[in-house]
Amino acid sequence: LTAAAPDLRAQLRAIVGEAGLLAEGAAAVPYLTDHRRLYQGRALAVVLPASVTEVAAVLRLCAAARIAVVPHGGNTSYCGGATPDASGQQLVLALARLNRLRSIDAVNDCLIAEAGCTLAQIQAAAQSAGRFFPLSLGSQGSCQIGGNLATNAGGTSVLRYGMMRDLVLGLEVVLADGRVLEGLSGLRKDNTGYDVKSLFIGAEGTLGVITAASLKLFPEVRARATALVAVADVPAAVALLAHLKTASSERVSSFELMPRLALELTLRHIDGARDPFGHPHPWYVLCELTSARAADALDVILEEALGGALEHGQIEDALISTSERERQAFWRLRENIPAAQSRAGASLKHDISLPVSRLAEFLARAAPWIETAVPEGRLIAYGHVGDGNLHFNVSARSAGEDAALLGRAESVRRWVHDLVCEFGGSFSAEHGIGQLKVAELERYATPVELAVMRSIKAALDPHGIMNPGKVLRFGAAENP
Ligand SMILES: Cc1cc2nc3c(=O)[nH]c(=O)nc-3n(C[C@H](O)[C@H](O)[C@H](O)COP(=O)(O)OP(=O)(O)OC[C@H]3O[C@@H](n4cnc5c(N)ncnc54)[C@H](O)[C@@H]3O)c2cc1C
Repeated sequence: LTAAAPDLRAQLRAIVGEAGLLAEGAAAVPYLTDHRRLYQGRALAVVLPASVTEVAAVLRLCAAARIAVVPHGGNTSYCGGATPDASGQQLVLALARLNRLRSIDAVNDCLIAEAGCTLAQIQAAAQSAGRFFPLSLGSQGSCQIGGNLATNAGGTSVLRYGMMRDLVLGLEVVLADGRVLEGLSGLRKDNTGYDVKSLFIGAEGTLGVITAASLKLFPEVRARATALVAVADVPAAVALLAHLKTASSERVSSFELMPRLALELTLRHIDGARDPFGHPHPWYVLCELTSARAADALDVILEEALGGALEHGQIEDALISTSERERQAFWRLRENIPAAQSRAGASLKHDISLPVSRLAEFLARAAPWIETAVPEGRLIAYGHVGDGNLHFNVSARSAGEDAALLGRAESVRRWVHDLVCEFGGSFSAEHGIGQLKVAELERYATPVELAVMRSIKAALDPHGIMNPGKVLRFGAAENP
């Protein structure tokens, strides 16, 4: 933290109280660095408002004094989105104390929650009302619903339920000048002009602070069948996805792909992980069917579909979980890949998406290139393949090769993202832009797209105080 002017500190304290202001000391440290430890920032102070009125008052103060504001949720961004810059002139506004569940309407299938609720809290609240909130991420214990909205988070249920944007009915947002946009609608049909809420979803805090959201709920999941399937290659995995969708009448809710190398890393670095198959296979698919009808015999449907695929040589082997414990053990193999990768050493990460129909062709081009151009790295491409989303990561072969691998980050990123672009894909499928990918957005967005984004930014945040340096260079920063 830098020394905030004493009068600013006093004004902030007058708004949020003693408990809501971290102006110095160790308590502020976690707010100044990102989850991946790529960025270390400084800040004038960290404020933790406890109501929308307090958020509005802080923004009014900051707008008048032209102080930059960095919204901060659960700090699980992979792109440094919630970390202030090194100037020490920005204010971190953390939403953790704005964490009340305002209402649940099980008949209208709608829940209204404040932005600082963790995703896990929202899931539990829905469940306690006999409903289901489907967003599911490895970080759900700490990421917040405001952060999920600001990043338009994806995760493991997108195939069936869509991204965060698809799960929202309305938002309450404090604008850069402190005005409150009250839009906590419970309506599914409302064609009254522009869809204003959509602007703030995926904007990563650059247009305003989301303070509450009205979220869609779904029937509780009452039947579930989960399988770990061994396949020879990526085309077989893609074919299996189509087969399962048809065989289950679209009840596939998750379809995750993992290469053998990812499983090996998990087995080596995560306590208690074990290989469920007797011998190695080149690729694995973790797939899950779900239904709201308890009587749906999904395990029978899955068994028949996989049995047919095995008979026709489309898959190599399959295990259907027979208990909740076994299901969770399958999921842990998938969810622990990021942790295993970071314990194993350095890696170059690319969060890409492609049309599902072009995934195999893309990997057939990219894998040999990594093999020859990055001798100190090994490709570990895994992820939400049901949505065409791959975490295309390159891990160091050994700890001694971390530095050499990291030295290639820029050239590998350029080659991978250019190829993604050639295949009609996206260089940021679900993690957003943050401060990590600002240059990538400038490279791959069209000039018209960038101009439209800057017009929206200028209309909602003319002084550029909302999370500057993230997503888009704006104002004086456009031509440094
Ligand atoms: C183990 C792990 C697994 C993950 N898995 C996935 C995954 O499967 N899919 C996926 O999409 N992501 C995933 N992520 C990334 C991350 O969890 C998501 O991006 C998440 O939505 C970020 O939420 P957060 O509350 O931590 O936001 P933060 O990291 O605090 O902030 C993210 C961005 O949102 C802004 N922001 C935060 N709160 C608000 C608000 N109330 N109003 C306006 N702006 C705000 C911040 O300024 C920042 O730009 C994973 C991360 C980890 C660590």
